[in-house]
Amino acid sequence: MEKIAVAVRFRPSIAEETSDRQWRIDDNRISLHKPLGTPISGVSFAFDHVFEESSTNSSIYDILIKSIIHAAIEGFNGTAFAYGQTSSGKTFTMNGSQVDPGIIPQAVRDIFYTTHMIKNREFLIRVSYMEIYNEEINDLLSLVNQKLPIHESLERGVYVAGLREEIVNNADQVLDLIKLGEANRHVGETNMNVRSSRSHTIFRMVIESSAKDSISSCDNSNADAIRVSVLNLVDLAGSERIAKTGAGGVRLKEGKHINKSLMILGNVINKLSENGKQRAHIPYRDSKLTRILQPALGGNAKTSIICTVAPEEVHIEETKGTLQFASRAK
Ligand code: ADP
Ligand code: MG
Repeated sequence: MEKIAVAVRFRPSIAEETSDRQWRIDDNRISLHKPLGTPISGVSFAFDHVFEESSTNSSIYDILIKSIIHAAIEGFNGTAFAYGQTSSGKTFTMNGSQVDPGIIPQAVRDIFYTTHMIKNREFLIRVSYMEIYNEEINDLLSLVNQKLPIHESLERGVYVAGLREEIVNNADQVLDLIKLGEANRHVGETNMNVRSSRSHTIFRMVIESSAKDSISSCDNSNADAIRVSVLNLVDLAGSERIAKTGAGGVRLKEGKHINKSLMILGNVINKLSENGKQRAHIPYRDSKLTRILQPALGGNAKTSIICTVAPEEVHIEETKGTLQFASRAK
């Protein structure tokens, strides 16, 4: 199994502040320092890549995501996650802005551009978009599809039953579907950021291709004749710990679901990255998120995790938590 690539990205600082402690980046190492530059012992982490505040979505795409997308076009499954506390830049990384499109729109454009250049294969591309909120799966492309069940069959493997899958022919069509999904996501929400920080969203593309010259031959001699791959781009729920006080009822229930599913995701990724050494049991079935992603995690799938963190001193404890999660994933 391929190594999971783990990256950390700092977003630009929002608050002007004079801080007692600050994060310092040296190449791929992050450590916490006191004002005069003295390192604080024990708080130092190394990753595959560290992106500083000034980094762009397009550099993240080139360094971390492009190879996953190109492997997906060639038939390998792939998954990229954004993990981090609310307001650390997960959605900015996945969706981006007009000036600096995120990895989802970049992936979409790259897929259509690249597949159009490949003349000896015919491509069929399908898109779906779902959220997991309180351990329930909702279709973001069709409001009537709520609380969808996960089914498993020999033919299809693990799948979300009833999920809308749209066949797409160009990038603009996909970007319109994403807009529809975003709009659906906020229906009934008074505070847009509340729901989105408490649900996981999975944007999925299934890329199927067949060799053009083998269409007429019925024999299976060319194993490469048909390839199908699944690509998941996942904007996870905020990883912040819910405060012990002040959270009750709905918020508390949401928080418990989020903490549990992120913990299980961490366990799955941790087991996968250890798996070179021993074949451990991988607890995919313990959460809907890992169950849905199972086919595109492990095996010969390519996986990247971008852990987003906030640079400000008030967020040091949450940032440490994110860096610890990231460290376990390596
Ligand atoms: P999250 O999805 O983790 O809750 P957001 O992506 O919504 O966080 O980011 C919070 C705010 O910070 C948004 O206004 C976003 O535009 C801004 N932001 C986040 N990361 C960056 C970045 N790398 N460059 C510029 N602005 C950013
Ligand atoms: Mg977000």
